[in-house]
Amino acid sequence: MIYAYFKSLTCGLIAFASGILVDLDHVLDFTVHYGLKKYRSFFVNMKWLKLHRVFLLFHSYEFLIISWFLVITNPSNTYMISFTLGFTQHMLLDRLHNPISQRGYFLIYRIIHKFNGEKIYSSSYLETTRKANG
Ligand SMILES: [Zn+2]
Repeated sequence: MIYAYFKSLTCGLIAFASGILVDLDHVLDFTVHYGLKKYRSFFVNMKWLKLHRVFLLFHSYEFLIISWFLVITNPSNTYMISFTLGFTQHMLLDRLHNPISQRGYFLIYRIIHKFNGEKIYSSSYLETTRKANG
């Protein structure tokens, strides 16, 4: 869609990459929790996993605000627009499907709570994992 709108393969690739690469921070969270030895089970373990500490450094409303600020102040920069649209789409879809509380997407909130998973996951997710774990 962005490729078609801007008629630019580069813009399309930037939007695609920014929409996917933001999830690299899950690798960091997984590594902090499991170390380097269990990468084979990365996708199995990330679903329904409750981490004690949730960093999610790229999944931050603050970065989204900065991106949109850069778009507004540089409206002719199609690369920045493409990046921001890909990033925004990712954040909207994550907001709908991930078990993170509304406040949990603020990096400042996570820092204040020392990345404590009990403060970052949604209450319904915490309840579900408590029942599942006994
Ligand atoms: Zn994500």
